Amino acid sequence: MTSSSATNAPRPERSLRIAHLYPELLNLYGDSGNILVLRKRMEWRGIRPDVYEVHVGDTPSFAGVDIAFIGGGSDREQKIVCDFLLQQKHELKAFVEDGGVLGAVCGGYQLLGESYLMGDERVPGLELVDLYTDRGTPRIIGNIAIQSEVSPQPIVGYENHGGRTHLGDGVQPLGKVLYGHGNDGQSGYEGCLYKNVLGTYIHGPLLPKNPGVADWLISRAMQRKYGQDVEPLEPLDDQEELAANRVMYERLMAGEVQEG
Ligand code: GLN
Repeated sequence: MTSSSATNAPRPERSLRIAHLYPELLNLYGDSGNILVLRKRMEWRGIRPDVYEVHVGDTPSFAGVDIAFIGGGSDREQKIVCDFLLQQKHELKAFVEDGGVLGAVCGGYQLLGESYLMGDERVPGLELVDLYTDRGTPRIIGNIAIQSEVSPQPIVGYENHGGRTHLGDGVQPLGKVLYGHGNDGQSGYEGCLYKNVLGTYIHGPLLPKNPGVADWLISRAMQRKYGQDVEPLEPLDDQEELAANRVMYERLMAGEVQEG
């Protein structure tokens, strides 16, 4: 066989398994749309998405999972999910420590930590990342834009949380707040990055207007599954996504958006 026929050999099929945790409960501001974006951006590159939905009452398994995603929701829904996930705490911890990719938005982000405050009750969290969440008034509600190393463009979206999240010393924030409030409205930082865990308060949903974030999750998962030398993700035509991102960013920075 000549080397040229070897080059023409079909590429072995690539696939990633996505665990979507409790979509029926944690789907605030269309957070489930993030899964559609992951799915399409994988398909467009010939990577087969295998989406596995975890529902209330299921005992999820993280064996073979490449990307886990958890959205945000009300305190009540968040507590129900937390009670279920606490039973899987050790498996989830092993997944995260092994470099499993985990995207978590708002209520889901708060669950990653040591605990979060719900009313006067301090609810134990999953202890996956060194962070904890207090509460504050008023709720933080409005548009947000941050600068983050995971995305070439600013990350834009919407935040609505009573929680104030504080990161431990070794935990990197996802980014710096350019507009809006972020983790606690004071530190100037938003979200967290720990190993391949990305936590954020940003809904929108997050990924449609922020393709860089979607590709960060996919490429981290590809590297974990297929090795650091896996070829980089093929660029996609993101003109529309980037135009939507830019319009929102420019409107926010020009003070054209009235909040509340
Ligand atoms: N219930 C949490 C809070 O208010 C999270 C809300 C959300 O997911 N948007 O802080």
